[in-house]
Amino acid sequence: TKPVAASRPARPRRGPGRQFTDHPDVAAAVMKQSAIAAVYEQSGMPNPLFLPRTGSNDTVIRALDTDLVNFSAYNYLGLSSHPGVVRAAKEALDQYGASASASRIVSGEIPLYGRLEQRLAGIYDVGDAMVTTSGYLTNAGVIGFLLREGDVAFCDSLIHGSVVSGTQWAGCRRINFRHNDPDSLRSVLKMSRSGFDRALVVVEGHYSMDGTVGRVAELAAIAREFDCAVMVDEAHSFGVFGPTGHGIREHFGMAGADVDIWMGTLSKALGSVGGFIAADSDLIGAMKSSAPGVAMLTGAPAPSGIAAALAGLDVLEAEPERVTRLWDNARLFDAALRERELNLGDSQGTPILPVIVPGELRAGFVSATLLQRGVYAGAISAPAVPVGKERLRFFITSEHTEQQLLSTADLLAEAVTMSDQLPAAMAD
Ligand code: PMP
Repeated sequence: TKPVAASRPARPRRGPGRQFTDHPDVAAAVMKQSAIAAVYEQSGMPNPLFLPRTGSNDTVIRALDTDLVNFSAYNYLGLSSHPGVVRAAKEALDQYGASASASRIVSGEIPLYGRLEQRLAGIYDVGDAMVTTSGYLTNAGVIGFLLREGDVAFCDSLIHGSVVSGTQWAGCRRINFRHNDPDSLRSVLKMSRSGFDRALVVVEGHYSMDGTVGRVAELAAIAREFDCAVMVDEAHSFGVFGPTGHGIREHFGMAGADVDIWMGTLSKALGSVGGFIAADSDLIGAMKSSAPGVAMLTGAPAPSGIAAALAGLDVLEAEPERVTRLWDNARLFDAALRERELNLGDSQGTPILPVIVPGELRAGFVSATLLQRGVYAGAISAPAVPVGKERLRFFITSEHTEQQLLSTADLLAEAVTMSDQLPAAMAD
């Protein structure tokens, strides 16, 4: 197979920009990128990173001049190309144009934003909601706006990088507790809570690298005992958990007010792009008028994206069987992988299934081998996961067929066995 991304020839760099490109961190990133490209180029295997593809990001995608069964998209309910979702986006394009062309405050409010926000506030049973252009910016901007020096965020050790960015924006302390461990949270709070002014406990509903289910209800209750506010990131749980896909709150039967800030993204199950928070009306009002990166100093979300998310919610509500199908598929794939004795780490049979293949090159080899055999599943390595815990990650959707899942399980087991024969150096 022809390699898809050749490394670029080195160009001598001059001028003040060199202070960045010569810095060890940047130089290491440049080296890593070209080393990976060279490995694929020399081996003649396709490079799965930045794989050029055409068409929508569904269960089958078109790339490398062939059809690939796709496990790389968090399009959990198949909504991103759902005809109703696409139609709604097109209608909004016709009605409002491609861009809001200004920040929310000064662009003149179109009704789509408020309509989606009211729906989300209703789902969470809280006062109000706010939609934004990006989930990443929502975490960074909200935490960056709310916390200050002297404050603290107590975070699950596997918390997403966007939350970490938020604490950096805020200039507050970040203290981690052991992943999903209520005892660890309690002891960290006992030890450290009193040393800070305001405190926020931040957890996720469904962890994107490990497929673990956040013990949100227990952790939130402990946080409350220590006078901490609570923020829950529902990026991978909204549309996935709860009998009607309304997220981890519905899954655990929690009240909206058990958590202070429900955060989510429009980019995953809802088939669009953007972020949201649902919270008390005063907090939302303050954010809308004053929080940089989420409402201020940044363009309003594209009207077509908001229309798509609204239509995605309509489909979710009209067809809750998509959620059932998603979980049936996840269980089927989980059982098939366990039968083949693959290492699924700490995953819990959810629609995020990691298969641990230690060694960055080894994981890359398995991913590339699958690509050659018609399956697209991304390899993940440090810093996203610890060194030695490299993995392939499979996102399951409601639209995968039984045949796609079972044949992938066979191909994967073969590719992992092949990778065991690689020279030891590749497994480091
Ligand atoms: N939180 C989590 C847990 C995520 O996994 C992601 C994205 N992968 C985000 C937030 C950011 O969301 P978005 O892609 O909408 O920027």
